Amino acid sequence: MKALDFRSDTVTHPTPAMREAMFRAEVGDDVYQDDPTTNRLEEIAAEMLGMEAALFVPSGTMGNQLALMTHTRRGDEAIVSINSHIFEHEVGAAAGLSGLNLHPLQFPDGIYDASQIEKAVRSTDIHEPPTTLICLENALANGRVVPLKTMQDIQKMAKERDILLHMDGARLFNAAIALGLDVKQLTACVDSVSCCLSKGLCAPIGSVLCGSAEFILRARKNRKMLGGGMRQTGILAAAGILSLTEMTKRLKEDHENARYLAELLSRIPGVSVDTESVQINMVFATMDWPELDQLQPWLEEKNVRIGAYTGPEVRFVTHYGVTAEDVEHLAGLLAEFHKSRVSG
Ligand SMILES: *Cc1c(COP(=O)(O)O)cnc(C)c1O
Repeated sequence: MKALDFRSDTVTHPTPAMREAMFRAEVGDDVYQDDPTTNRLEEIAAEMLGMEAALFVPSGTMGNQLALMTHTRRGDEAIVSINSHIFEHEVGAAAGLSGLNLHPLQFPDGIYDASQIEKAVRSTDIHEPPTTLICLENALANGRVVPLKTMQDIQKMAKERDILLHMDGARLFNAAIALGLDVKQLTACVDSVSCCLSKGLCAPIGSVLCGSAEFILRARKNRKMLGGGMRQTGILAAAGILSLTEMTKRLKEDHENARYLAELLSRIPGVSVDTESVQINMVFATMDWPELDQLQPWLEEKNVRIGAYTGPEVRFVTHYGVTAEDVEHLAGLLAEFHKSRVSG
């Protein structure tokens, strides 16, 4: 049985076509901006995401942090969701690197609300930090997508108040597919967007940060300051080009497999899945099981990896390399584990 990994879509490996493209990639020195493959990736990213310019960065975290640093000044305030990657999973970098005051808001199901954000915007009172940036995520880390109308309402409110908008689009293409939109319709709502090439899009390393030409020029300098100025990046960009031009076309398979998994899981006793919440390639199942902590090592022995959860919520992520049969195999194993614990 092949090894299966449902922990995340970050575990995807470069495809054979990517390895071939990496082998053949024409390279230069990207700090001198003469790496032709990286320049090509940045052109393609800007074009596909409907922005003037793009910058290749080593990680999604750096893409987000460059956006924060480039859009704001020290002591500014940025509004974020309390569950966002920027607030929860970037090691406090907004404060550590850019001196930002993050203002976290909690939204039902994580879905933003323009009027709730508007209420959190600071006044010009001498005591208050200026709100200069709002950060949105789409798709959300809880597997849901933010409707276009919500994005547009926030854009309108932000524009009236002269506040910039950054979108953490780590899974931007997943969001667009789930919403039945072109990514450009989502990115048209914001001033900058970062998008991971290394998750479901299978590149080994890297993200792109996109925005106006003037913004990217300043972000490029900040990237150098953070030590993210890299040299023969064409080796990586060659894979990233295929992420955008090829791998974006197959993401809907991952969404279908996630929905299929949700359906199979909900037939197992003690498991409940809110199928409404399965909108991209992630399934969050509530597993009210005894000895749930033993599930991960038990699966590991059978060559199937999941995150280490103590329950009751368990996340499964589908991606390139995981087929409908693999999803059936996982569901079968989960049913077997449950049976062995309840009757055995
Ligand atoms: C994965 C992810 C990132 C970036 O993560 P890196 O590991 O730094 O590439 C940013 N935002 C969200 C929502 C993510 O899921």
